[in-house]
Amino acid sequence: MPNLAPSKIVCVGRNYAAHARELGNDVPKEPLIFLKPPSSIIRHGESIRLPTVSKQVEYEGEIGVVVGRRLRRATADEARAAVSGIAAANDVTARDLQKSDGQWTRAKGFDTFCAVGLIGDVPDSLTSLTLSCRVNGTVRQEGCARDMVFDIPALLSYISDIMTLEAGDLVLTGTPGGVGTLSPGDVVEVEIAGVSRVSNPVTRDE
Ligand code: MG
Repeated sequence: MPNLAPSKIVCVGRNYAAHARELGNDVPKEPLIFLKPPSSIIRHGESIRLPTVSKQVEYEGEIGVVVGRRLRRATADEARAAVSGIAAANDVTARDLQKSDGQWTRAKGFDTFCAVGLIGDVPDSLTSLTLSCRVNGTVRQEGCARDMVFDIPALLSYISDIMTLEAGDLVLTGTPGGVGTLSPGDVVEVEIAGVSRVSNPVTRDE
């Protein structure tokens, strides 16, 4: 599997109206961003380990964007041109800790909480990307990049106004509606049609 070693993983919250609504939130007026540590990355086939401190670990299927070259204060067009790969990703989240902590570093940052598939090619139209998430073979989430509140070039441009994006950095672009909890023994799979897929078994952390 090709190496994936981002200096940072920048994630976007509430970027699909249906998901913002299902958690009782409004759609943000500008992108809501947070970070996951690179130490949370696992690849296709590796186990998501449920930490004992959480009673509500949830899947979030997402379109992952790999940045191909350094971006700083980039325009949307510059950002679009710098996208070098697309990967299926799972922004695994301890929802109970996300709510109780107020900020999200712990809830989003456990080891194994960022599953990333093989990096696929960038299609001509980023808005045509479609995403699905299945748990034990049952479809739980479906989304299309067209339904994002802020599209991929706008997200990268916005982020690059705050922090320089380095070649190899990974941006997770938000999850559509339909999030739900994971249990030991589940298999969760995120697929970007025709581009990338990541499937992971779920185990209790010992
Ligand atoms: Mg997410």
